[in-house]
Amino acid sequence: MSDAATPARRVIAHMDCDSFYASVELLRRPELAGLPVVVAGTGPRAVVTTASYEARRFGVGSAMPASRARRLCPQAVFIKPDFTAYREMSKAVWRVVGEVLDRDMQHVSLDEAYVDLTDLPKPVGRMREVVERVRTEVGITVSVGIGPSRLVAKTASDWRKPACFAILSREQACEAFQGSPVRLLQGIGPRTEERLLALGIATVAHLQAAAEPALIERFGDRMGRWLKARSFFHDDSPVETSRILKSRSSETTFDQDVTDLAELEAVVRRLASEVCLGLQGKGKRGRTIGIKLRYADWANITRARTIGELTNDTAVVTEVALALLREHAPDRPVRLLGVRVASFEEPGPSVRRPAAPLAQLSLPV
Ligand SMILES: [Mg+2]
Repeated sequence: MSDAATPARRVIAHMDCDSFYASVELLRRPELAGLPVVVAGTGPRAVVTTASYEARRFGVGSAMPASRARRLCPQAVFIKPDFTAYREMSKAVWRVVGEVLDRDMQHVSLDEAYVDLTDLPKPVGRMREVVERVRTEVGITVSVGIGPSRLVAKTASDWRKPACFAILSREQACEAFQGSPVRLLQGIGPRTEERLLALGIATVAHLQAAAEPALIERFGDRMGRWLKARSFFHDDSPVETSRILKSRSSETTFDQDVTDLAELEAVVRRLASEVCLGLQGKGKRGRTIGIKLRYADWANITRARTIGELTNDTAVVTEVALALLREHAPDRPVRLLGVRVASFEEPGPSVRRPAAPLAQLSLPV
């Protein structure tokens, strides 16, 4: 192999606002500073959306039933989520980041994005400038991880939250997180963790030391190899900015499997709104709307529908996604739910292909 074939070392940053919804509430209500704040819906099935770090000290965490959070921390201030405010604040954050970096980002959710800084001079200094400017101009703290891949960057940004700023090579990540539970590796959820535990694999180091054939035997060829590569922080997935993005999706993995349709519907509404916000920010519209479900047994189901018009309208996407969910009527516990919009308009002069009446989307696993 010639030198020319050796790919340039990538520099990728992951940015994640600290306890974002709670931070927005604290900005609006400075009198709550220092108090445990929990953003959660009301009603018997409400779950915690975000907890401030003060509330986390009492064991309160995201996706926990609000009733449990109230028992753990009765003195916490409970606030109903206000997604309009969160979207506004999100726009303000990413506008400032965009001003500093002047490049396209891959938005994962309202408060999280990746950016590829490979050809940017002094990327670390620029990321420090991002943190400082968002803090002073918007009042939000951003944690940053910088590394050679999305996996390293994401793991690094989560390392010492809040206000984390970590730069790690792949080798350093392999070492730094050896003692961490396998769940630390993005993509490994509670169910996979359980299956790994059954093999005596609890930590990243255990997974690094595991025999690949044993993993393949237990998880299948593709996932077995993927788990092994993941444990050594190998990841060459690109940062998908809008320029190369053919679709936009948002998904969530539940801490505990969900069977209740009303609860799933609430999550679909939130995800549809996140996806549409991203599309609106990029001025993109799509005609295919899809949902993805992963069941507790790891079976993946995708359903999609192509509509007659290009859209990034939250109401339209929500309605179609909800219809797909209801039509599919999940009959078993669901561990992951995703919403996607695809089939964007072609830029420039191009022949528009007729829309398929029904398309199947494959959402990223
Ligand atoms: Mg966050």
